[in-house]
Amino acid sequence: MLYNSTRNSNVKVSSAEAITQGISAEGGLFVPESIPSLSLDEIKSMGDMKYADRAFYIFSKYLTDFTEAEIHYCTDNAYSTKNFDSENITEISHLFDGTYMLELWHGPTCAFKDLALQILPYFLTTSAKKINLDKKIVILVATSGDTGKAALEGFKDVEGTSILVFYPEDGVSPMQKRQMKTQEGSNVGVCALKGNFDDCQNGVKAIFTDGDVKSLLDENGLMFSSANSINWGRLVPQVVYYVSAYAELVKDGEISLGDKINIVVPTGNFGNILAAYYAKHMGVPVNKLICASNINNVLTDFINTGIYDRNRDFHTTVSPSMDILISSNLERLLYLLTDRNDELIHDWFGKLASEGRYEVNDDVKSRLKEEFCAGFCDDVQTKNTIHELFEKYSYTCDTHTAVAVKVYNDYKAATGDNTRTLIASTASPYKFSAAVLEALEGGVSDIDEYAKVEKIAEISKTPVPPALAGLKTKPERFGDVIDKTEQKQYVLKSLGI
Ligand SMILES: *Cc1c(COP(=O)(O)O)cnc(C)c1O
Repeated sequence: MLYNSTRNSNVKVSSAEAITQGISAEGGLFVPESIPSLSLDEIKSMGDMKYADRAFYIFSKYLTDFTEAEIHYCTDNAYSTKNFDSENITEISHLFDGTYMLELWHGPTCAFKDLALQILPYFLTTSAKKINLDKKIVILVATSGDTGKAALEGFKDVEGTSILVFYPEDGVSPMQKRQMKTQEGSNVGVCALKGNFDDCQNGVKAIFTDGDVKSLLDENGLMFSSANSINWGRLVPQVVYYVSAYAELVKDGEISLGDKINIVVPTGNFGNILAAYYAKHMGVPVNKLICASNINNVLTDFINTGIYDRNRDFHTTVSPSMDILISSNLERLLYLLTDRNDELIHDWFGKLASEGRYEVNDDVKSRLKEEFCAGFCDDVQTKNTIHELFEKYSYTCDTHTAVAVKVYNDYKAATGDNTRTLIASTASPYKFSAAVLEALEGGVSDIDEYAKVEKIAEISKTPVPPALAGLKTKPERFGDVIDKTEQKQYVLKSLGI
């Protein structure tokens, strides 16, 4: 399996190269040259495997330059009860009639990004060895909250790597901020940026593709790689849990082999839902992929009209990991929907950079509508949904997951579609304790973050994840706040060059 760039189909690299480079030199994203297929029988047989072996099965179709031993080394280290509080790694909760919560937050940082970021360091260091890179890998991350912490946990003290994370100063939850500021490890750095997530991400992208910076790194025996979902090594682990969940539902007799399901994903950077798209095109029977947004609803408009327009106000919401106006992974989807037309992608994403807007052609518009549905909701609706879900089903969900539930309820009411449905539950409710408690109690309380966590435990009768409970007494290590114009200098200074 080779990988092309979305902005130059003639680029052909191995998975080890795609993973170590993160982003292609001309700014495109790496995409496998074909989507491997899984038969229904193969999917069924995965039901009898443990999660790490399901992952091995999928990876062996994409990472064909890795040996079996290398893939096993990665999967066995990443997906064990050493890192996850569930034997099954992910859990499925049967919520209400024909609706299932795929809980993706049983890892060390309590959000779905752990599924990818626990394995990425193994992919990266294995890839670097395979292609005889003797450079130290520098991971630069822009985060809307969850990626940063999950990447820090994945890479801390991993030999041959160092990691630097930028987050928007006022754009993450207090718990997310505490998690990052108190990060342990000898090879880690964390810095706040005066700006929003898009500013962080644009800055990181610009630094990645800056020729001068690249030469400076070269001279110092360093190279950049990315832990953001622009890295293929972030995306492929996410395909696993959709296939795994389908196999699990069949095994449990909830659906029959071959039955279609809907998948609802609370979406920001479009990585998670793109992984569901890949799972579908590998062979998982899927009816609709439902893209749920908060009021930063640029994707809802795009899927409904074919016009992507980021020229709009940016809102901070109670689902901060979805406060994004530029969804990077959409580029991969459009590359596939245009039958790999790198010129069109060049044109559209050039327009996005210069004018903040592009419109896709009619063919892509109709393909989008065939595969996807989209909706959004605001903060009040998000909190009402958390409240309602708890009242009706004694189930406590986080703010991002609540956006998905609300958008799904609207979809069901509008279409009458009774297809069984899997909702991606992307974070533990404890991670967004202020908004969740407000939703549960129906009012704002002025107790501190940790008291809120304890209160949620009391009300919901669920255990507090140990990683969050322990934060209270941890010392803060990182307090830098910089202007977005200072980002490049900051990176160079941190690297000592
Ligand atoms: C990152 C994140 C999302 C958005 O996922 P994308 O892959 O960026 O679309 C949703 N919910 C939570 C809790 C997240 O951390």
